Amino acid sequence: AEAFVAKVAAAKSLNAFLVETPDHALAAADAADAARVAGDLKPMSGVPIGMKDLFCTEGVPATAASHILEGFTPQYESTVSGKLWAAGAGMLGKLNMDQFAMGSSNETSAFGNVISPWRRSDGGNTALTPGGSSGGSAAAVSARLCPGATGTDTGGSIRQPAAFVGISGIKPTYGRCSRWGVVAFASSLDQAGSMARDVTDCAIMLGSMAGFDPKDATSLDLPVPDWAGSLNGSMAGKRVGIPKEYRVDNMPPEIDALWEQGIAWLRDAGAEIVEVSLPHTKYALPAYYIVAPAEASSNLARYDGVRYGLRDLPEGAGLQDMYAATRAAGFGPEVKRRIMIGTYVLSAGFYDAYFTQASKVRALIARDFEQAWAHCDVLLTPTAPSAAFGLGDKSSDPLAMYLNDVFTVPSSMAGLPAMSVPGGLDGQGLPLGLQIIGKPLDEQGVLDACLAIE
Ligand code: GLN
Repeated sequence: AEAFVAKVAAAKSLNAFLVETPDHALAAADAADAARVAGDLKPMSGVPIGMKDLFCTEGVPATAASHILEGFTPQYESTVSGKLWAAGAGMLGKLNMDQFAMGSSNETSAFGNVISPWRRSDGGNTALTPGGSSGGSAAAVSARLCPGATGTDTGGSIRQPAAFVGISGIKPTYGRCSRWGVVAFASSLDQAGSMARDVTDCAIMLGSMAGFDPKDATSLDLPVPDWAGSLNGSMAGKRVGIPKEYRVDNMPPEIDALWEQGIAWLRDAGAEIVEVSLPHTKYALPAYYIVAPAEASSNLARYDGVRYGLRDLPEGAGLQDMYAATRAAGFGPEVKRRIMIGTYVLSAGFYDAYFTQASKVRALIARDFEQAWAHCDVLLTPTAPSAAFGLGDKSSDPLAMYLNDVFTVPSSMAGLPAMSVPGGLDGQGLPLGLQIIGKPLDEQGVLDACLAIE
């Protein structure tokens, strides 16, 4: 724990941590020493982790990387972080991220972007994005500032950053991890998960995060299986589906080669490879960018200058002026864009044309997956359509940025467990990720297939 505390303090140039909490990590290490003596070690005893700044942890500022939450210190503990502490883990600090988890590059943070620890091998010194929105988590694990970190995934925010920095990250089935005490983005999609150096560490950490919580109405009241204890990388008797609609136009050759390599690895591990069809795949991204902003516009109404963080109260101003001034000053441009899209698609005149239609598409996407499970146990796809891009490359073009989520969004829309695992390097020596998507509640199948690839 001391070594990790020192590394975090020395690695400021990555901008991965927004707050450092060395005492928390060191106290957990001391408690682990005592637990060892008492013969009472727990799954995460003494492990110092990073916490995405979307989770509320008691007495430590939580910002969601937005100015509007500046000055907000939660008096309560999120269920997921509380479970991690109960399992013996300690916290090194709060991790930078895209503002309110809206973004794919970490550039929407109000506190400056995170820098990936990776560089292209051609000597070009372009600073690269660690991906987003859990970019601080990805960079911190990749740079070995912590052995594991929490992430949240609404449309790919655990998987895409994990792929960009060569680590593993799993988003479990919607409802496995409680959303209580996690700053809400799009409540019907948001799900917490673990990011770590390998599949086994992800499984151990996820096992300490998941479980029923009566304080979250969508929490699943089911036992948490012993995922780590049951890990098995053999694919004998398993069928792996290759969704043909994921062969998108202009897929870069190195992504195609990565996919072929993944297929070969799983076949070598004993799997039967089958082609499957998910016909509504191409509608997933546009539908996501209606549903997610719609829910966000409703969730973010609570930041009004009264209840949390920032308050901008101009001299002599009334209540409406305070709302307007606070929100104008507090929210970043991408957050404002999402709120405007969300209120537009929910407005009386356009609700049926956009929100209702997107909700129907969402049901069709879920049905596609259900039909695919008749033919296979898991699906294999690339995690993202490219390796990490340069900081600034897409930040002025929201559509180009949104397109980076094309492979991760469909499984989010269907609430399915999905994981990214390192699959190799591109021609520039940058990591590429493979994604395994599983049946509802089959995190074990997802983890096992990723172990076979790893
Ligand atoms: N990049 C996607 C978005 O901006 C997903 C973000 C996430 O999963 N939190 O909405």
